[in-house]
Order: sequence, then structure tokens, then C-alpha cells
Amino acid sequence: MSYDMIVLGSGPAGLAAAIAARGRDKSVLVIGSRWQDSPLARAERVDNYPGLPGQTGLELLEEFFRHASGLGAEFVTGKALSLLAWNGFSVTVGSQVYQGRALILAPGVVRQAKYPGEAEFLGRGVSYCATCDGMLYRNRPVAVVGLSPDAPQEANYLQSLGCQVVYLSPRPPQGLDKDIPYIKAGKLAVRGEQTVTGLEADGALVPCAGVFILRRAVAPTDLLPALETEDQVIKVDRRMATNLPGVFAAGDCTGGPLQVSKAIGEGHVAALSACEYLDGQTTQGNTGHTP
Ligand SMILES: Cc1cc2nc3c(=O)[nH]c(=O)nc-3n(C[C@H](O)[C@H](O)[C@H](O)COP(=O)(O)OP(=O)(O)OC[C@H]3O[C@@H](n4cnc5c(N)ncnc54)[C@H](O)[C@@H]3O)c2cc1C
Repeated sequence: MSYDMIVLGSGPAGLAAAIAARGRDKSVLVIGSRWQDSPLARAERVDNYPGLPGQTGLELLEEFFRHASGLGAEFVTGKALSLLAWNGFSVTVGSQVYQGRALILAPGVVRQAKYPGEAEFLGRGVSYCATCDGMLYRNRPVAVVGLSPDAPQEANYLQSLGCQVVYLSPRPPQGLDKDIPYIKAGKLAVRGEQTVTGLEADGALVPCAGVFILRRAVAPTDLLPALETEDQVIKVDRRMATNLPGVFAAGDCTGGPLQVSKAIGEGHVAALSACEYLDGQTTQGNTGHTP
């Protein structure tokens, strides 16, 4: 499953990017939650989108989606869990991996307060992806911090691999295997030395070798740690290029104004810039890169 371009995010910016990319005849895969899950779907009336005043957010999104899919953009519904930037870009969604030569980030605003120790131990015991890293913890104790609706299934999967799972969340989970112990916990901190040795939950230590933190979305900076940001938004130039070759960004993730017209315009520019990047690669006879 290999595409010219992968667009991460199925809101207005991602859909506009897909439309522009298809206009240049590039194959494009949009990875995101359902288009109905964009925050725009909650707008009862949008009056500032040129030419189409008075539509609901959901109506606008439906038009954008129809346009993109009608032009041949492909869609995968799910959460991008990990991203490998080597010889292009490999994006993991569930157990599937999708390959693209250029990447457009359009995830909207993903604001996440991190737990103490989370960033420090990322890749050294902290993981956001049970499918990607579960096997590393076979026969070892792991803690799953369940913050997304699918987290109980991910915990069940880890248990089925042979991990000794403890599940922690602020609210009792639905669908958790009854053999998995559940701890109701609010205040968490990851503890360790070279690697993770435990998770502190409301002052009590749960010893473990791995901590899986499963949120609704994974922030682009967690997917691509080398991505440059400024004031908590992705830093881009006027071509919507980030500091990483082949990676472009558009929409709310690049900062205000947080509005549809700006997201659409940036998605369009990002896609044209990505097309230029791809055409440049073809001219040079180069099919991949390592940012
Ligand atoms: C109630 C409300 C009313 C609004 N009214 C207006 C208005 O009247 N006019 C106006 O111009 N703007 C309005 N806005 C703002 C507008 O909705 C946003 O500016 C616009 O949706 C931004 O588009 P985007 O594509 O950048 O991001 P989003 O619309 O946020 O889309 C990004 C999508 O990517 C998904 N995603 C993120 N990370 C991942 C991941 N790792 N894997 C898979 N999917 C992921 C998200 O779940 C989301 O669905 C309103 C917003 C709200 C909440």
C-alpha cells in the first residue's frame, strides 16, 4: 500500500490537500478519524466560508469529503499510531502500515498535557502503540493508561501476547478482559532509571517494564520528534514546508486563526508544495529520502 502522498487528518485542511493532490494526479491516502469527527462538525452554522453561508459544519465537511473521494482520494479511518521517516514515510494504523513519498500533517489542534517522565522515557519503556511495541514486552509486566475508547481492546491484545497487563484510567473501562486488573487512577508519573521501572498512580508505585499511554490522538511531535514547533504549533514557511524534507503541514496545527478558510487554503498550498517536492524527486531519479 504505497502512495505518492499521505495526508494525516481528515478535517478541512486534509481534505483540501487531498483535492489539490488529486488535481495534480498524485495518488493520495488520507488517514484520520471519521471526517464527521472534525471539530467543525460541532458548528451549528458557518457564516464565514466564502460562497456558502449558513451551512452547518457537518454539511460543509460532507461536501469536502465527497469532493475529495469523488476525485479518487483514498481514505483509511483510524488513529495514526507511529510514523517512520525512512525512504519515504511509513504510517502505522492498527496493524496496517501505509507508505507515502511525501507527508502532509493536518491533525488539527492536538493539545496534550504529558505525564511527568513520559517524554523522558519515550522509546525507553513509554510507547503509544500496542501493535508496534507489544512484542517487546512479552512475559513482562506492563501498565496501560487507557484514555481512548479503543484502549481496553489494545490492553486485551497485549494480554493475549503474554504481557502481564495492569490497566489504569480515571473511569472504569468497558470491554476490558476480566483477567486484567484495573486501577482507578488520576495522577500518574512514569518512573525509571535507564528504562521504565514503574508507573506511579496516585502516589502508589505499579512496577512495570513498559507503559502504554493510549490517547484519542497521537500528537505530530510524538510521531516525528524532530519536527520543529514554535509556541506549540508546527513551524512552517510560506510553502507550508516544515523543517523536515518531504513533510508539510496545514490547518489549525500551524496556528491561528483557527478557521476553515485558512485550513482550506493551507491544505491546498501544502499539497501543491508536496507535488513540487515529488516532481523534483522524480527529475533527480530519486524515489526516497531520509529526513
Ligand atoms: C464548535 C466549533 C465551531 C466552529 N465554527 C467555525 C466557523 O463558524 N467558521 C470557521 O471558519 N471555523 C469554525 N471552527 C473552527 C474550524 O472547525 C477549524 O478551524 C477547522 O476544523 C480546522 O481544520 P483542520 O483540518 O486543520 O483540523 P480538524 O478539523 O481538527 O481536523 C483534523 C482531524 O484529524 C484527526 N487526527 C488528529 N490526529 C490524528 C491521528 N494521529 N490519527 C488520525 N487522525 C488524527 C482529528 O481527529 C480531526 O478529525 C469551529 C470550531 C468549533 C469546535
